[in-house]
Amino acid sequence: MTITSPSPTLSESILVDGLQLIGGEWVPSVTGRTIEVINPANREVIARIPRSDAADVEAAIDAAERAFPAWRDLNATARAALLFRWAQLIEEHTAEIDQLESQEVGRPHWGPPPMAGQLRFIAGQADKVQGVSLPTYSPETLGFTLREPYGVVGGIIPWNAPGPMFVTEVGAAIAAGNTIVMKPAEDAPLTPLALAKLALEAGIPAGVINVVTGYGHEAGAAIPASPRIRRMGFTGSPFTGSLIMAACAKNLTPLHLELGGKSPQVVFPDADLDQAIPAMATGITLNTGQICAAGSRVVVLRSIHDEVVERLATQMQKITYGPWHQPVNMGPLINEKQHSRVLGYIEAGRKEGADLVTGGGAPQGGDYGNGFFVQPTLFDNVSPDMTIAQEEIFGPVLSVIAVDDEQEAVRVANGTDYGLVASVWTRDVGIAVRMSRALQAGQVGVNNALGAGVIGGPFGGYKNSGFGRTMGADSVLEWTQVKTVSMRPAGAPRI
Ligand code: ADP
Repeated sequence: MTITSPSPTLSESILVDGLQLIGGEWVPSVTGRTIEVINPANREVIARIPRSDAADVEAAIDAAERAFPAWRDLNATARAALLFRWAQLIEEHTAEIDQLESQEVGRPHWGPPPMAGQLRFIAGQADKVQGVSLPTYSPETLGFTLREPYGVVGGIIPWNAPGPMFVTEVGAAIAAGNTIVMKPAEDAPLTPLALAKLALEAGIPAGVINVVTGYGHEAGAAIPASPRIRRMGFTGSPFTGSLIMAACAKNLTPLHLELGGKSPQVVFPDADLDQAIPAMATGITLNTGQICAAGSRVVVLRSIHDEVVERLATQMQKITYGPWHQPVNMGPLINEKQHSRVLGYIEAGRKEGADLVTGGGAPQGGDYGNGFFVQPTLFDNVSPDMTIAQEEIFGPVLSVIAVDDEQEAVRVANGTDYGLVASVWTRDVGIAVRMSRALQAGQVGVNNALGAGVIGGPFGGYKNSGFGRTMGADSVLEWTQVKTVSMRPAGAPRI
């Protein structure tokens, strides 16, 4: 892992403090209440955000409704140009945005931020939204489809990668001609606000992007509760996802959901372990394991089990951790709730009889005293039905499950409610082909973790990991509805 050490000071120009974006104006919440955003490495307050509720959401929907007709009618190439300009500004402010995201998420620098590239990919789709021509019963009739935006749409995102999630959700929705009301997570709202500021600077008209901040049960719940929201996108936990879906059901609002995973890393005896071991250790410790795609279960064929466990333990002991601005691999968890949740899972692993190989607790003292730190943790001899093998921990906790053969590997890999990402480590093309088909996951990596390395790969889940796909070219189409038009001249004979 390459490590650089950014400065711990925040740029004033990019930071929005105490305000949110509604109709092109930076405004406080209607009630004037605020929430503190803290640095999870030391609990220092970075900034405050408005604590909004349904009244603020209604104002944002009003603004988005006002902006919609002109945005819809702007030609698609002009919409694309504005998105490209937004991507350009994001690129020009890469260092500041990276630093802001690092600070609020608590994550050390993890490589070039993907946002500008993701947005350019989506911007390029804006003027490629096409319908089809349809055969007709008579030559007097023309038949074709139009793909049209829904109108005002809503998006709710979590805190683990607020920048990339914001640009992919907002980018696709507005590229298709919708206007949007976004609710970032209360723990990491500053990067989305900074990105929205750059969108305004890029010339994206007032009201096209509205960012309402606050708690999920207040500002968040008000978005799908409104019948004026014509489509929803949500990324977060299955529990909240099901609440969002229930709210959408009431209004018959379509939606997509991305709800996390319990991604298996299936390791065959012929795997290149020099490649697999570091990738698996990084895959569970990157962003402190707070990635929905994190490979949290190692499903290993018994003949190489001992070697894999030993090497994984050594690799995980090399992972350094500390405050985000130090040259470390891993930062703290996002907040107290997640900290006690992850420690609770480690305790459950011990109680249910898994063998703790390395890690297993919160480091004490010094730089760790005030932050939500947890050690990279490896459990061996985990059985597939244990809590740590079934539930998404969202922390740096890896479980090793030994299996006897390929069939059992498939059964165990597919044996959770989730189906987001799966990896296979093998040199055997036959195994790679069979596993790619057999694994129930929205993304499968062969000799690759986290579904990485593909440009424009659709991202989303099977089973309880959700439905709908983001990031790919089709993500723009998900924010459109199809209209069939049949047209004939006045007075043409009846068919
Ligand atoms: P986590 O527990 O990891 O924070 P959540 O799924 O609860 O995951 O949160 C993801 C996003 O959903 C956040 O922006 C949060 O504020 C929002 N949220 C939480 N509860 C609700 C709710 N009842 N209605 C709408 N949004 C919510």
